[in-house]
Amino acid sequence: MQTYPFRPSGSPRWTRCLGSEVLIAAGKFPDTDNPAALLGRITHALAAMAFDHSCTVKAIAATHIIDTDTLQAIALDRDIRRCAETYVSTVRTMAAGAFINCETTLPVFDAGTGTTDAWYRLGRLLSVHDLKSGRVEIRAAGNTQLIMYAWAVLQYLQRIMGTHAANFIDKVQLVIHQPHNHTVDEVTMDLSAFLNEVDKVAAKRDRIKTIPLADVSKFLTPGLKQCRYCPARAECEALSEKITEALRKPDIAVVAGAVDNEALAECCEAAPLAKVWADAVLDLQYSKMRAGEVVPGFKLVDGKMGRRFWEKAEKAESLLLSTYGPEFTYAKTLLGVKPFGDEVSREEYKILAPYIGQKRGAYRVVKNSAKGDPVDLTAERTKDIAKLLPEPEDNNVN
Ligand code: SF4
Repeated sequence: MQTYPFRPSGSPRWTRCLGSEVLIAAGKFPDTDNPAALLGRITHALAAMAFDHSCTVKAIAATHIIDTDTLQAIALDRDIRRCAETYVSTVRTMAAGAFINCETTLPVFDAGTGTTDAWYRLGRLLSVHDLKSGRVEIRAAGNTQLIMYAWAVLQYLQRIMGTHAANFIDKVQLVIHQPHNHTVDEVTMDLSAFLNEVDKVAAKRDRIKTIPLADVSKFLTPGLKQCRYCPARAECEALSEKITEALRKPDIAVVAGAVDNEALAECCEAAPLAKVWADAVLDLQYSKMRAGEVVPGFKLVDGKMGRRFWEKAEKAESLLLSTYGPEFTYAKTLLGVKPFGDEVSREEYKILAPYIGQKRGAYRVVKNSAKGDPVDLTAERTKDIAKLLPEPEDNNVN
């Protein structure tokens, strides 16, 4: 019997494009990664550390986290820290002292499991939270991923309480946190309304199980919400057909006054999908090359270096205080790590340099004929791991 993943995080896709889950269950498409997903995992891991240790994100001294999927050592920069801190403090405020369960992995729908970012009970309210570190706006109402997480938590509670949820829960609250957009979107509904939502998702799941692989093309439904994160999007025939159809429309762009607005409307509907497809093709190329595969005619080169930041902040602070005094140390230019300029000479910068890190930019894919040496990925990985080793004591600074 076929096993379907029915992952909650994939539900915005499989509830809209039923065939996509059939293809994935049949092993037609491998899961791909992208830099945004990686940063999301790191932000979640940092927030979970804060919840687990009942502390603020600021209090976590770690400078890097190893991503268990890719074994990359990711620097915990200001952006990741801010995003995690905003989320953690908002959940704590909303929980009003209730015990917060975080990163709970529970069974949900058949063989699938889901990891709920955070949940708690506040009296007869069950509140379930999801952190999104991306910027694409996501709403809580009708959010199938959150519905599945909340359903998994309800099932779990029913098991340990030994009674139906209606005996201890009246309302279910779903919350989406998007710190990068400065938004917290939430919806609260009665338990019966929530169970209706679960039934709708379950009906889609049941329909998917009846689709034979041979007929799958009839159940592929391209659309922005489902295709945006679909692992099949770089190779999906239904998606490329929809785009190709739009491209076949008569020339819509040129002669003023001769534009066929109906053709234009069809092209406009397909345009965001074409962008999703093009980005997916480029992401696939990047992830293959990042994994060491050769894509003929292209190479990976270093991207632009990112912004500077203080490393070993306490040692840097004590060196600055003893050398320049408090007024200068706490000057905005130094806190912003811009030590070049009128205030700090190049000689002085040499003293500060060991305490200043610089975020490495993402690699870039360029044509082989473009400037730049190809990156040696093996050497880069060794450097990443070396960063995690304890450093020798620095005796120059007290
Ligand atoms: S790319 Fe879009 S149409 Fe194709 S399988 Fe995925 S969700 Fe469905």
